[in-house]
Amino acid sequence: MKLLDMHCDTILECLIKNCGIRENNLHIDLNKLKKAGALGQFFAIWIPSGEAAEHYGVTGTPKELFYRMYDLYEAELKKNSDMILPALSYQDILDNEKAGKLSSILTIEDSTLLDGDLKVIDEVYDKGVRLMTLIWNYENTLAYPNDPDNEIHMKGLKPFGIEAVEYMNKKGIIVDVSHLNEGGFYDVAKHSKKPFVASHSCARALSNESRNLTDDQLKTLGEKGGVVGVNFYSEFLVEKSMHTKTEDIVRHIDYMVDKAGIESVGLGTDFDGIDCTLEIENYGMMDKLISELQKKYSDDQLEKICSGNTLRIIKECL
Ligand SMILES: [Zn+2]
Repeated sequence: MKLLDMHCDTILECLIKNCGIRENNLHIDLNKLKKAGALGQFFAIWIPSGEAAEHYGVTGTPKELFYRMYDLYEAELKKNSDMILPALSYQDILDNEKAGKLSSILTIEDSTLLDGDLKVIDEVYDKGVRLMTLIWNYENTLAYPNDPDNEIHMKGLKPFGIEAVEYMNKKGIIVDVSHLNEGGFYDVAKHSKKPFVASHSCARALSNESRNLTDDQLKTLGEKGGVVGVNFYSEFLVEKSMHTKTEDIVRHIDYMVDKAGIESVGLGTDFDGIDCTLEIENYGMMDKLISELQKKYSDDQLEKICSGNTLRIIKECL
């Protein structure tokens, strides 16, 4: 089964732990991706800010942080071009597959580096970025983050956020609403002319976290032709849990398929960005999930969840 995971934070982990992407002790490396049958991987450049930046001991402006991680990413891809190549389009993924290579799709998590300037979208597009997560857990020039406080959670996108979504549509960058608050989500649904994704989120009905999507959000995402990637973080799957069981991932997939539709659910592991123990200890063990899903989904349905739906989004947006 071909897999395509919409979110991991492996690049930042490589920077902090001073290791490469070919073989490491992290959740994701190229050997593990190959072993599991991945078609490719979305690699996020996550730009930590606020307390997160302190926690990881990284300093610098959002743009400086972006380029520090971008340089590592670019060097790693060059070094490992026998195994993985960048994918800037749908066709690139097909070509890379034909050549027996993985595809890498570069993303940015937290569009804080835009700082109110649309030209930065041109700049990162030229660097190969093809998906942008509008926000992380702190307010930026586009939007407000998910928040347990309902007043903040229901605030809409800022005017610059609407402009940025429309420009990403035009440019061919996938808009990602994971981490965004609920008010912002509905503004994206209203203003985006292309399907959008929640690259790494789960169902709020099963774990009452403001990071997760309500039934109505899932339904709206499905109606817009979008895709939600199931996140493997224990607390997003089961409230207060510190261990991720495969059955809980399956439960969220089932639920989200029921609410959003079989065309609108995919993978968004959040590997190397989650602090919990997992039954699927790393990407190389993804067959555990596949064999559980095989018990209830047809090959055709399973292919959609594992890669087909995300490939459709890439085809429609890039
Ligand atoms: Zn995230």
